[in-house]
Amino acid sequence: MNSKIVEVRAIPIERKLDKVFRGGTYAIQSRYTLVTEVRLANGVVGQVFGGDEERYQKDVCGLINGRFQELLLGEDAMNVERLWHRMFGDKKLGQMNRGIHVLDLANRAILMQAIAGVDIALWDAIGKSMGTSVSKLLGGYRDKVPVIAIGGYYVRGAGEADLRQEVVAYKEGGMYGMKLKVGGLTPAEDADRVRLVREAVGDDFVIACDANQAWTVSEALEFCARVKPYKVRWFEEPVQWYDQLQGLQLVRAQGGIPVVAGQGEISAYGCRDLVTAHAVDALNVDVTIAGGITEWRRVASMAGPMNIGMAHHEEPQVALHLLTAIPHGLYVEIFPNPERDPLWFELPEKQPRIAGGYMHVPDAPGLGMPLRTELIEQYRANALPA
Ligand SMILES: [Mg+2]
Repeated sequence: MNSKIVEVRAIPIERKLDKVFRGGTYAIQSRYTLVTEVRLANGVVGQVFGGDEERYQKDVCGLINGRFQELLLGEDAMNVERLWHRMFGDKKLGQMNRGIHVLDLANRAILMQAIAGVDIALWDAIGKSMGTSVSKLLGGYRDKVPVIAIGGYYVRGAGEADLRQEVVAYKEGGMYGMKLKVGGLTPAEDADRVRLVREAVGDDFVIACDANQAWTVSEALEFCARVKPYKVRWFEEPVQWYDQLQGLQLVRAQGGIPVVAGQGEISAYGCRDLVTAHAVDALNVDVTIAGGITEWRRVASMAGPMNIGMAHHEEPQVALHLLTAIPHGLYVEIFPNPERDPLWFELPEKQPRIAGGYMHVPDAPGLGMPLRTELIEQYRANALPA
């Protein structure tokens, strides 16, 4: 078997949404992603779509199609750990490592996203070459994981009846639970939305709340106190970006609800700092942002013996494999609403099976989700270089 790399490429994707989706701190108008492919001499093509990068999409693509291509051509895909360090430690990318300045921070995020795209495509190629799923390559702890819906966005003009209808549809559609957006209103008003949702879905449905870093510590604690009766499974990113370590630690210690964060971290080092500061009960680090599966493995290995769970920020096409591979994986999350995430419904030839609240690992090797090439071409972000 010749697993030498003969081609590496990234294709930027933009799919405009028909309406705007608002969370605690942002509004989404387009779904962006990156398709990364690694072709091997044995004919196998590792392929993944991942990320939702808008501003630096062109730079991430440029790095993969330029320098990373140079670094990886002719190398053996099986040496994935070595290839990861070759990308991460490349001296020609020295400009990534200057002082503290917003552009340099952005550069590091570009680097880690570019590594992620290539690394995940390599793992898909390894799985396909060996005829086994990525889930099994990483440990194969189980073959299904509970699936939750991301929803409860703030929609202009929508009222209580709309929210009730939305969440009941998730339950009736076979979801194990949901993640509700909070942080866009006052703690009292958002706690009232949680009450409404709990009353609508009953007790046997997981409700997590995600503030997307909208609140101060005292607002977050007020929210915790108000939602006590409604069995909130976890409180995600409760506090503002500049108060992550101590702020999260306080909410965790005093709020009485498990705290999840980590989706903004771009490396295992950042995740380590959240864990050692006792700031989280689970990490939802995103494999498509933070250096790919090779780096995620390190985070998951660290988290286990620290009694920290592993959640995952979106990206079910990869997260499904990660969270089924280990004993401390929590829930995979999707946007069941095709208006919010049309690419999940359009790009893969077929989605993994969801039944009885669980998403099942596909039988096909690698990530088990071949992509529809004609749609990659249709949604290619033409303004950007290939
Ligand atoms: Mg989140």
